[in-house]
Amino acid sequence: MNKVLITPKSFQKFREKPIKMLQEKGYEVIENQTGRTLTEDELIEYGKSGVVGVIVGVDPLPASVLTNCDQLKAISKYGVGTDNIDLGKADELGIQVSKAMGTNNISVAELAVGLMFESARKLSQSVQAVKNFGWGRTIGSELTGKKVALIGGGQIGKEVAKRCRGLQMEVSIYDPYFNDDSFLIEFGVSRSESLDDLLADADFVSLHLPVTDDTKHIMNAKTLSQMKETAILINTARGELVDEKALLSALQNGEIAVAAQDVYSQEPPEQGDSLVSLPNFILTPHIGAFTNEAVERMAIVSTENLITMLQGNE
Ligand code: NAD
Repeated sequence: MNKVLITPKSFQKFREKPIKMLQEKGYEVIENQTGRTLTEDELIEYGKSGVVGVIVGVDPLPASVLTNCDQLKAISKYGVGTDNIDLGKADELGIQVSKAMGTNNISVAELAVGLMFESARKLSQSVQAVKNFGWGRTIGSELTGKKVALIGGGQIGKEVAKRCRGLQMEVSIYDPYFNDDSFLIEFGVSRSESLDDLLADADFVSLHLPVTDDTKHIMNAKTLSQMKETAILINTARGELVDEKALLSALQNGEIAVAAQDVYSQEPPEQGDSLVSLPNFILTPHIGAFTNEAVERMAIVSTENLITMLQGNE
């Protein structure tokens, strides 16, 4: 019987229906029971055991893993970020790759806006003060009327734009590949051709682009220094978009006010990590797509995508 491997931890929550879908098509389903992301060695072991399809979360699928998976025909990403998969190698080996498009964009967008509120109103700090039976208050700022720069205007960026407009914020998108003028008109959003101008003017800079050779460390010492001292950086996209050494220095030196992220170069970060220890750096544990609604959609759509790819191969 053809084997299919399912790696994402959160898949467990809505596993019944998709697993039934796979079993009805005659696949033997192997689930990641470790409660953590699989290692390259573990993935190679599964590959050697004859797995033909994988529904993968953030587990690493570099060339060294893919070349050891002789029977692998299809990789279905449980989500949309494929930076953990060597797409070139997959293509070379004839392994198809799909993404679960449109399944988690609303959840990630809502978290991005949530992190704006968290940064502007110091919510967790205030809750913690009361939990400690204190009543210390920290003055906050309103979001209304503030300028938001969205770097990346794809599925998530657009949902963030709509929500920020609902809050009467001014929204501008920097995305060299953006071509949806009707969206700009419908939601009263502007587009900037210049990242430099946008950074200098924004109260919030929110990242919604993939990591590529071109975008890695797009937020670096130079771009961070272009931001206002009162500005807030939001990153719900990928840790590698931000040069964390430069961010540490920018936050310590007051070059920007706050950074709030859902992603990090190393997840979880090391104990005592300098950036995580800063009071003006906020990090959530990659919960952008971790909602009941998104998890259910991702489970179903990634399963449908895997079946479509595998059946096309038969
Ligand atoms: P998308 O492909 O729909 O949109 C990405 C946009 O980035 C595109 O419009 C593209 O043109 C733009 N872009 C590419 N290069 C750019 C550049 N140099 N400068 C500016 N824009 C550029 O992707 P999406 O679904 O909106 O996802 C965006 C990011 O969110 C990805 O990094 C993804 O990995 C991440 N993500 C995070 C979570 C989470 O749990 N935190 C969940 C889903 C996605």
